Parts: sequence; C-alpha cells; structure tokens
Amino acid sequence: MPDIRPLPETLISQIAAGEVVDRPASVLKELLENGLDAGATDIGVALVEGGVKQIRAVDNGAGIQSEDLPMAFARHATSKIASLHDLEQVRSLGFRGEALASIASVARVALSSRTAGAASAFSLSAEGGSIGAVQPAAHPLGTTVEVSDLYYNTPARRKFLKSDATELAHCEDAFTRAALSRHDVAFSLRHNGRVLTRLAPSDSAYRVGGTLGADFAQSMRPIAADGGAIRLHGFAGSPAFTRASRDTQFVYVNGRFVRDKLISHALREAYRDVLHGERHPAYVLFLEIDPLGVDVNVHPAKIEVRFRDPRAVHQFVFHAVAKGLSGTAAETPAAMAAPVAVGQSIQPRAGQGFLGLAQPVAGYTAMFADARAETLGTASVPGNDSNAGEAPLGFAIAQLHGIYILAQNRQGLILVDMHAAHERILYEKLKAALDLRAMNTQKLLIPSTFHADGLDVATVEEHGATLNLLGFDVAAISPFALAVRAVPSMLANADTTELARAILRDIREFGASRVLTERRDELLGTMACHGAVRANRALTIPEMNALLREMEETERSGQCNHGRPTWYQMSLADLDKLFMRGR
Ligand code: ADP
Ligand code: MG
Repeated sequence: MPDIRPLPETLISQIAAGEVVDRPASVLKELLENGLDAGATDIGVALVEGGVKQIRAVDNGAGIQSEDLPMAFARHATSKIASLHDLEQVRSLGFRGEALASIASVARVALSSRTAGAASAFSLSAEGGSIGAVQPAAHPLGTTVEVSDLYYNTPARRKFLKSDATELAHCEDAFTRAALSRHDVAFSLRHNGRVLTRLAPSDSAYRVGGTLGADFAQSMRPIAADGGAIRLHGFAGSPAFTRASRDTQFVYVNGRFVRDKLISHALREAYRDVLHGERHPAYVLFLEIDPLGVDVNVHPAKIEVRFRDPRAVHQFVFHAVAKGLSGTAAETPAAMAAPVAVGQSIQPRAGQGFLGLAQPVAGYTAMFADARAETLGTASVPGNDSNAGEAPLGFAIAQLHGIYILAQNRQGLILVDMHAAHERILYEKLKAALDLRAMNTQKLLIPSTFHADGLDVATVEEHGATLNLLGFDVAAISPFALAVRAVPSMLANADTTELARAILRDIREFGASRVLTERRDELLGTMACHGAVRANRALTIPEMNALLREMEETERSGQCNHGRPTWYQMSLADLDKLFMRGR
C-alpha cells in the first residue's frame, strides 16, 4: 500500500469543484450570488459560447480591498461568516468560501475590483490554481469576474459539457432564478455580444412578468401570509394557468432558490382540489424564516434545506397558498374552482392540447390496436343487441355524451368512465413493459416537430438513453426545435408533442435516474393520461367492448390512477327501485 499523504491544495479544489462547478451555469450561479452578497444593485452577465468560453459578471457592489484580493481565491476563505454562531444565523447566499477557489482550479479567472474608499482599482488573475500578483487596474466601484476556458486543464470534465446551446439554456435558468429573487436589482444577460435580457429594478409583480411572461403574470394571484417567525409572499398561478411540467415553480427560502420536497408537497396539497392531476401549478414564492429555523448547509449547491420544524412550515405554506387561491375563486370558472369530481377530469383545460376535438375520429384499428390484438382476436364480440354473456363488465350498448360507456351485463347496467378506465389500463401496461424493459415503440410516419426551449433540447441531448427506455425517440433538429420520431406503441394515439414535452420536463427536473425510480409511477401516470382516449371521442361498439375486455384483464382497473372509480354497476334491482317497480 502506498503511504497516506495529504492531497495538494489545487487537487483538493479540483475535487471540490466537481461538486459545486459542474457546468458554466453553476459558475454563473456563484458569481451572481457573490454580486448580490456584495450589495450590488446592478449585475451584468456576458457569456461567450454558452459560457464555456467565457462568463463575465460585472457588479456595482461593495468590491474587494486590494489586500484581500488574494484571499478571495483561497479555499475556505470568506468574508461572510467567522464562527459557528454566524453560520447558524447566515443571511448571505455564500458562506463556504469555496466557489472562487474551485472555479480558479478549473478555469482561468481574472478579477478586478474597487471599493468605495480606494484610490484605484486592483486586479488579480488565477489560472489552474496558481494566483498571480495584485496589480493596479481601471474599474468603477464594484467587481468584475471573468471566467474563461472552463475545464481547460481537466479534459475529462470538459467532455461532459454539452453543446453551447445546452449550456446557454442552463445559464439562462440560473440567471432567471437570480433575477426573480431580487426584483430590486437590475440584471442584464448577453450571449456572444447579443443582449438576451435586460431587467430594470421594479416591483416584484413586474419582475415576474418580465422573466416568466405576461401569461403567467396575468393569471397569478398574490400570496401574503405573516406568521411572525415565518412569512410567505409571492405569486401563485391561478388553477387555469397550469403547466405540463414543474418548470415554472420557483421557491426561495430566505432569498435562496431551493427545491424542497416539503414545500413542494405543501403546494401540491394546496392546489389539489383545483388542479387536474397531470398538470402542474406555476408559482414564485418567497419564504422568510428565522435563520435559526432552517439549515442551509446540507447540499453542495445549497439547493436543499432542512427545516427545524418541518410540520409547522408545511402547514403554514399550505394554508397561505390555499387561502390565496380560494380568495379569488370567483374569478375562475366554476368547474376549475370546484373539487374535481369523477367525469370532470376529462374536461378540457385552458392551454391543454385536446386530442378528442382536434382530431377526426380515429379508426377502430388505431384506437385500441393492442386491445384488439390481445382480446378481440380470441373473444367473441356480440353485437349491441345480444344477450350479455358471462363477461363481468358486460357488453357495450352506447356511449353517453362522449364520456361514459353504457354496457349491460347479467346484473344490469354498467357505466364506465372511458378516459379513466383507459388511463388505468395503459398505466398498468406501461408499468409492466418498463419493468420487462420491453416497451414497444411505434415510429411516427411524420415525426412531430415542435419549438422547444434550450433546456428541453439539452435534456434530449443528455438523456437519450432514458428516453429510449421509455419508448421514445426524440432528436434535436436545431437548437430550438425537437422532433419526436417514435413513441411507445400504446401511446401512438396521444398528442405526441404534448406527451414528449411532459416527459422531457419530468426528466429535466428530477434527473433521469429519479424519473426511473422514485418518480417512475408518476411519470407513467402522466404518459397514460396522455395516451388515454379523450372525452368527445366517438367510440364504436367494438372499440367499447375491447375496452371492457381490457378492463377485466387489468389489475386494479376498478380505480383510475387518481383513485376514483372507473366504472359503476347499477343492478336491475337498483333500477327497479328508482322506478318504484315491484318485482
Ligand atoms: P463565499 O461567497 O462563500 O464567501 P466565494 O469563493 O464565492 O466564497 O468568495 C470568496 C470571497 O470573495 C467572498 O467571501 C467575498 O469576500 C469576496 N467576493 C467574491 N466575489 C465578490 C464580489 N463580486 N464582490 C465583492 N466581494 C466578492
Ligand atoms: Mg460565493
């Protein structure tokens, strides 16, 4: 065995950099946070080639004194805390004194800065962990940090970088998170010399509109709740403004963007009664809590936090948002404000592609291709006037209002919520197919192409294997467009664009591995919902019978994925009672 030796400082930083600096966007996040911590009121970001070539952040904050400049690059050197006591009370975004040292170990960094009292500005550069000499420079009050050639000295890491468009998309995400967190600060973003965004200081509603778009700004409702030691404010999108993914969910704890399971859960609960299961609410919420009540030092990128009293936080957030949503319920259509009842779940929602209305009635073969192959081939399918044989769910008689299937069996009448039932069947089949790694795919004759944002393109680039496993073939055809070339055969009838978008957003938010493990059922549920027959789709009698047979063969088919019943039996006795008919 070799001797045990301490690692060289630069290598320690490079190892640490693996956790905090995994791509240009994480460098940008650190630079933005440093600017905000320095009290800047204006932060300008300029990226070159997706930030891989260069990231420059200019702020007008307090600056760094010349004698402190070398310390800025030293590991575990920070001006923000000095003791455990400070750490427990920490209000700044940074406090580990790790970012600049890590960045300087894997890139070329030049820093210029000027403080209020100083006679001149000074600059300093660092490269691959070695720090140059402090030199006089020209710079206004504030700091400019220029990070160039990320991973120039760690080629193995550089290989993990994606296309410029992908890296840019991640940088834009980091920029948006910072811009939303401080509406009182001006922000601008350039890429390859072109201005992408310029945000003037404004009130918070205006900033939300400027970053997330007018649609959201028009739909959102203000949230404001004060519990003394804990406060919540911000905006919650109305239930009418829902998304196929969670990409418009921003939660900040004491000014820090977090992804917190507890808070997400509280929000999901708050929206539960007003939101369709497959759609996601949009919100920008700021939780302010006594720093002693939250530990922000539990994650390398500080994106997760731990609350001292999780139950209290959950309750508080839930009530604050539920109240905010119900307070203006009169503005929403009744169907959206009311608890979702059986049957309502298949009504169209604003902004949602609605297959049944948009497409002509599909031929029998396309609708239940699987069902036909597996059941109709063997079972005899009586016509609609035939006597109900031994099939437990009987045989179809008619379709009611494009929503329910009416069937008769030996006992009487069967009512089936066709969407809910089909969704359940697809869900169970998808689960089985994925478990067996045997998802049958169907190539689309004409690939469906759609405009996508950079992060979706990035997801396709990074997680092609996961998409394949799920039965999809999606390709980037430009930095802003994707083409769906194949989908799981079971879902061939879905709106493939909507479907692909939903999957991509899930992967992008939760990561490929979580999507296949702890989030698997939710993902398959989303897929099933997209694939299931929509309301107002006229079904033929054989199609309806095929669905009934499928239900009989599917485990748990009595309940839809959301726990509501998929079918209901009314016996002849029930009907007789209804008509007060003595038998
Ligand atoms: P941390 O933010 O955790 O303290 P960093 O490595 O990000 O660690 O920065 C180290 C130190 O450099 C900070 O504590 C701060 O004193 C100084 N610094 C970095 N960036 C800036 C900036 N833009 N303006 C003023 N000071 C800065
Ligand atoms: Mg920092």
